[in-house]
Amino acid sequence: MAIEIIKGDLVTMQVDAIVNAANEQLTEGGGVCGAIFQAAGEGLAEECAEQAPCPPGEARITHGFDLPSKFLIHAVGPVWEGGRSHEATVLADAYRYSLLVADANHCKSIAFPAISTGIYGYPSVMASEVALKVCKQFLQRQSESIETIYVVLFSEDDYQIWQESWTHLNR
Ligand code: ADP
Repeated sequence: MAIEIIKGDLVTMQVDAIVNAANEQLTEGGGVCGAIFQAAGEGLAEECAEQAPCPPGEARITHGFDLPSKFLIHAVGPVWEGGRSHEATVLADAYRYSLLVADANHCKSIAFPAISTGIYGYPSVMASEVALKVCKQFLQRQSESIETIYVVLFSEDDYQIWQESWTHLNR
């Protein structure tokens, strides 16, 4: 079992499930969500609409359509409001919920983006600490089918930050 932090484009990941940084309405947004909807193609919007809304901290699963992954897991993270609105709890829940859904669907591999750190404004360092802790604990304690968790960072800066947090967490 392993956690792999990589720099790249989430939509090209050859994994069982790709996680979308979704909005509560599960509609096509900007950022990584926009890239996922573009790459998935026709059918995704309809399947998402059937499952909306999804509150922050939860996730919904759809097919991957034209993506290389079998499933898409739409996780809704918190909007950053300065840290006074339980954002860390909601972010941890979004990761955990996604992992549970993937596990329940017998996924062996899953790839996450840095949920909430773009349009939703969550500071990257703090988000990485929350996310990596949840992923590590899940693999150690709970996972039945998931063997590899990828976190895919789009920018070099984010990649460095997540690498550092991972090193720190394992010290
Ligand atoms: P949110 O609304 O949850 O903040 P965003 O999509 O705005 O979601 O941003 C989440 C993170 O995804 C940001 O760090 C952004 O740089 C990153 N991102 C954007 N496009 C991609 C992509 N194609 N692959 C991986 N990460 C991406």
